Amino acid sequence: MSNDARLLDRCVATGLKWFGEDCLLCAGRSGPELLCADCAADLPPLPDHCPRCALPSPCGSLCGTCIASPPHFDGTTALWLYEFPCDRLVQALKYRARLALASFFARSLASRPLPESDLLIPMPLHPERLGQRGFNQAVEIARSLARRTGLAARPRGARRVVHTAPQAELPYEERARNVRGAFACDLDLAGKCVAVVDDVMTTGATLNELARVLKRAGAARVENLVIARSVLR
Ligand SMILES: [Zn+2]
Ligand SMILES: [Zn+2]
Repeated sequence: MSNDARLLDRCVATGLKWFGEDCLLCAGRSGPELLCADCAADLPPLPDHCPRCALPSPCGSLCGTCIASPPHFDGTTALWLYEFPCDRLVQALKYRARLALASFFARSLASRPLPESDLLIPMPLHPERLGQRGFNQAVEIARSLARRTGLAARPRGARRVVHTAPQAELPYEERARNVRGAFACDLDLAGKCVAVVDDVMTTGATLNELARVLKRAGAARVENLVIARSVLR
């Protein structure tokens, strides 16, 4: 583990002064910001990638997988690679309730050219998991993004109706089956462009299943807005 990783893990574990004047990653002066400008600029960018699934693709062209079997979603905007130190930041929000990171992520998303959309729907958590965690990180990011963009966030726009096994615990090939039928949507989305907000995109199986349900509810387009894209396959 690098020194940076150790420092961040220690900060995360002990709740050291994160939101004061010390950069979360290098402990240098960051003023009112979570990260200093250098660390924020050093977060791992995505290489040229497919506009639909955000996996690496030469010159940013549509990838072979998306051509051969198009997913239900129409596009993906991902801020960074799910690698150090971005992974630590995402985990600090999700598992250690560092909620200030949600607004940092939202601000970073809002600074990118985002696809046109009519409303934001955060990736829902099953009520049981929500009860355990106390909050839904995707809702926190979506609410903050809504405030910055003027778009409407619909935190209850989609519901998780099946308490599935955590995707992270399953082999990639089982993840699509695991989330099949996991969502319901009661909104009439006829003709709407929906942006789905989530923290990490790994295989895309969960986002794809949610997009399927949103399209069935009438959505004309579904765009994923995610903080980090895992490109390990
Ligand atoms: Zn820094
Ligand atoms: Zn693709």
